[in-house]
Amino acid sequence: MKQGIVYLVGAGPGDPGLITVKGRDCLRRADVVVYDYLANPAFLAEAPAGAERIYVGKRKGCHHTPQPEINALLAEKACQGNTVVRLKGGDPYVFGRGGEEALHLSREGVPFEVVPGVTAGFAAAVYAGIPLTHRDFTTSLGLVTGHEDPAKKMSTLDWEKLATGVGTLVFYMGMANLSIIAEKLMAHGRPASTPVAIVRWATTPRQQTLTATLADVVEKVRESGIKPPAVIVVGDVVRLREELRWFDNRPLFGKRILVTRAAEQAGAFSALLEAHGAEALACPVIVVVPPLDWGELDTEITRLAETDFLVLTSTNGVDVFFARLAAAGLDVRALAGIRVVAVGPKTAAAIAQHGLRPDLVPADTRAEGVVALLKQQGVSGRRILYPRAELARDHLRRELTAAGATVTAPVAYRTVLPSDGEERVRALLAEGIDAITFTSSSTVENFLKMAGPEARSLLRGVPLVSIGPLTTATIERHGLGSPIEARISTLEGMVAAMVDYFEGAGNQVSGFRKP
Ligand code: SAH
Repeated sequence: MKQGIVYLVGAGPGDPGLITVKGRDCLRRADVVVYDYLANPAFLAEAPAGAERIYVGKRKGCHHTPQPEINALLAEKACQGNTVVRLKGGDPYVFGRGGEEALHLSREGVPFEVVPGVTAGFAAAVYAGIPLTHRDFTTSLGLVTGHEDPAKKMSTLDWEKLATGVGTLVFYMGMANLSIIAEKLMAHGRPASTPVAIVRWATTPRQQTLTATLADVVEKVRESGIKPPAVIVVGDVVRLREELRWFDNRPLFGKRILVTRAAEQAGAFSALLEAHGAEALACPVIVVVPPLDWGELDTEITRLAETDFLVLTSTNGVDVFFARLAAAGLDVRALAGIRVVAVGPKTAAAIAQHGLRPDLVPADTRAEGVVALLKQQGVSGRRILYPRAELARDHLRRELTAAGATVTAPVAYRTVLPSDGEERVRALLAEGIDAITFTSSSTVENFLKMAGPEARSLLRGVPLVSIGPLTTATIERHGLGSPIEARISTLEGMVAAMVDYFEGAGNQVSGFRKP
């Protein structure tokens, strides 16, 4: 049996980019992942598909799995020969009970290793624009628990030493005891004017930051309604935030923007939105699914030796074609002697991924352009294979057949509305959305079909963003009002239009939504 091991891995504070390379490598090798609510769900996707994923965090209204049970679970899974990753928010050894888990494993003789993580206090300060130490302001730093149970924990703190002996103080789990913390620090000699920052959901698009002083922090927190999980940073360094903010003053920070493009095309747009600080929410109005029957395409693959041209018009088509080629036990050598036509630069790049250079890349990517180019090559008597989307226009097949070619156009994939679309739209709108983006008329049409009959009432008051005049016309024709329209019909143009639209909507407390 394989020797089991437990890795206690710090997942960082929330931004999925803030896990260590070593921590991610552990996840990629995991047989079992044990996680709780502070770990970003994106990490679970890093583990192998077959890995067991065990949630031990708080559920609505319920308590955490008791610590002894977690300890026992880790040991048991490792003893069965598994590579176990215990994923913990922030750093495993900073207020995360990682020490208790490690002690249990050590005493049970279970091999373990620990991978540090970026702790919430450090990350929250950095993402709020606060250097935890700065030689003009402080030379020391303390991490303190502000645990919810004042009877047990708060009374053991030596407030006098904390208040005057340490420069910057960072409290974890302190929101429920904020008033005690502020009072004690002031009572033991910290000036009431000492600046305080509260940073909630640090490093995520939901980050909220409130600044105050020890004197008025309790009242300001009450007014704003800011809640846990948050860290409390106390010290003169907090003043630097005004100059050093960088995360939450990006132009679309905190905006929840719906991206309606198909998953395959959403990536670039989502990345662009995120680079401007927005939270891009994928809501694909179309999904790509296999044809009802592979028979036609598979038959054509057996006839490649007689084929003269292969026309591929999309990255989906490329992926499917090569997958079926492989399923037939063949590889690119089966395409020797066939002239490969790639429609569009993305399609050409996808073909190149398979080690194949397209022979023809038409400048005009419409069906008309492809037909014209092929006619120049001479198609009479030639056999052309054109794997296509189910709903593709018939132009190419018809025109080339008329020019004397034998054209087979098997369905390689279909595009359909997502089956859970209506629920997804409702759930997203219920959570609050700042804008919905439409990059073509078909995304508008499909969105409305997908969202169901009540879509219009749900959409009331939600800004819609259109890539250009044709999409705008479709939105208006459906009675959805006039959208925000990009001046230049590109994804960048759409982002610019949103930045203009949201400009000036700045809030006093960053990250707080306007009611
Ligand atoms: N081991 C963790 C801390 C766990 S204790 C670490 O090193 O970060 C849980 C406390 O951490 C919360 O009550 C809160 O004070 C803080 N915390 C964790 N993630 C946070 C986040 N994204 N933003 C603000 N505070 C966070």
